[in-house]
Amino acid sequence: MTVATVLSRSQQGLDAPLVRVEVHVGGGLPAFSIVGLPETVVKESKDRVRAALANCGFDLPAGHITVSLAPADLPKEGGRFDLPIAVGILIASAQLPPGPFDATELYGELSLGGELLSIRGVLPTALQGRRAGHTQVFPAVNLPEAALARHGRVLGAAHLMDVCSYARGMRPLPAAAEPVAGVANGPSLDLADVRGQHRARRALEIAAAGGHSLLLIGPPGTGKSMLAQRLPGILPPMTEDEALEAAAVRSLAGRGFRVEEWRQRPFRSPHHTASAIALVGGGGRPRPGEISLAHHGVLFLDELPEFDRGVLEVLREPIESGHIVISRAGRQAEYPARFQLVAAMNPCPCGHLGDPGGNCRCTAERVAVYCSRISGPLLDRIDLQVEVPRVAVEEIAGPEAGESSAAIAARVMAARVRQIERQGQANAHLEGPAVLRRVRADAEALKLLACAMKQFALSARAYHRVLKIARTIADLADSQEVIGRHVSEAVTLRQLDRRVAGASISA
Ligand SMILES: [Zn+2]
Repeated sequence: MTVATVLSRSQQGLDAPLVRVEVHVGGGLPAFSIVGLPETVVKESKDRVRAALANCGFDLPAGHITVSLAPADLPKEGGRFDLPIAVGILIASAQLPPGPFDATELYGELSLGGELLSIRGVLPTALQGRRAGHTQVFPAVNLPEAALARHGRVLGAAHLMDVCSYARGMRPLPAAAEPVAGVANGPSLDLADVRGQHRARRALEIAAAGGHSLLLIGPPGTGKSMLAQRLPGILPPMTEDEALEAAAVRSLAGRGFRVEEWRQRPFRSPHHTASAIALVGGGGRPRPGEISLAHHGVLFLDELPEFDRGVLEVLREPIESGHIVISRAGRQAEYPARFQLVAAMNPCPCGHLGDPGGNCRCTAERVAVYCSRISGPLLDRIDLQVEVPRVAVEEIAGPEAGESSAAIAARVMAARVRQIERQGQANAHLEGPAVLRRVRADAEALKLLACAMKQFALSARAYHRVLKIARTIADLADSQEVIGRHVSEAVTLRQLDRRVAGASISA
C-alpha cells in the first residue's frame, strides 16, 4: 500500500471537526512534505515525527512522502497530529498493517524518543468522537480527561511503540476508566465566615436563586470579594451536561484545567488591567477568554470603574446572548459564555463616601465622573445593586457567625426548582412579554412599581428588572403571586437607580 488514511480531529471553538490525515509514499528523491498545516507548525511536526520514528527503530521510507491534512482550510494546531502522521507513514510504507485504525481517531504530540505528550482540548474532542462512534486513542496522560465524555471506546497510549503493538494485535491499549466523580463547590468558602452585611447577604441569596447579576458598592475591605467568592457555593449544582460544557471550555484553554474539579462551578476574577482579548477571547490561535471560562459560573469584576471602558463594552453582547463569536483573519470561532456577572466598586474615588470614619472629601462632581466610567447600558444590565457598608466592630467581634452556605443553598435550590417548573429557566433569563406573563404580580404590586418608576425615573429596562427580582423574592418565599412587599424589597436592591434619583446612598 502506498496511500494510507488515518483519522483525527481539529479544534474550532468547542467544535472538533474531523480531519483526514492522508499519507502517500511515492518514488523519486527522498523528501518529506506536509500540506494542510500552517508552515511553522509543519516544520516542528516533521522534525518530531522523523526523530520519533528513527528512535523507535523504524525506517523513514525512501522516496517522496507527502502528508495531507484535509480539509486544508480548517485551522489546525500542530502537536496533536504527530501520532496520526507517524502511524500513516508506517502504514503507507507497510511497516504496520492497514485495517486496525479504519474507524479510529489518533491524537498525540510525539517526543523525539516516541513518548506521547499531553494535548489540549481532549474533552471536546472526546465528546465529538462519542457522537461519531469512532474509537479514539489519546496520550495516556489525557485519559482521565477523555473519560469524562463517557465514550465507551477511548484508549490511552504512552508511547508510539504501544500504538504499534496494538496495531499488530500483540497488546491491547488500556481503556478509559469511569470518570472521576468530582466534587461540587466545596465547603472551603462558607458564608458563615461573613459577619453582618445582612442586606448584601440577602442580595447574594436572591442573585443565586434567580441567576441575577449583582453589583456590590462599598468602601475597600468590607468583604465585597468575600461575598462574591461565596456565590458559587450557594448556586444549585450544575447538571452533568452543564458541567461537561464548562469543563470542555477549560480544557481548550489548556493550562490549569484540573479534571477532578470538573463539577465545580467556575469562578473567574480577571484583574482590571485585563485586555479585551483576555476577557472575551481571541488571539492568533484563538482561545476562550474569561467570560467563556466563567461559562455556567461566576465572572467577578472587582473595581469595576477601573476596567477600560472599551473592554467593558464588549461584555454587553455576551451578557444578553450567552455566547461570543470571535472573528480573526476570516475565521470564526464561537465559545459559550453564559456567566453570572458579579461586580464590585467603591462608592467614590477615595472609597469612603458614606463611611462614618472615612473622611471622604470627594466632590459630587468627582463622584459623578467616577461612576460614569461604567456606561449606562452596562449598568442597566446589572439586576441588583447593593451597598456593602463598613460593619460595626460589635458585629465582627460578636459570637454570632453568619448563616452557613449549606442552609442558604437549600433555599436557593427550592426557589430555582419553582422557576424551572414554571417557565423552564431562571427568572433572570426571562425576556420581553414573558416577563409580565410569568411574573404574576397582583394589583398592589403593580401600583407600587408604578410609583417607584415615577419616583426614581426608572427606565423600561429597569422596570422589567425590578419585576424579575420581585419574582425571585416571591419564589424564595414560596409565594405564587408577586405582592407589594416583594416589589418594595426589589426596589431597595436597585441602589444606583435610587442614587441617580437623588436619594441618599445610605437610604
Ligand atoms: Zn471619596
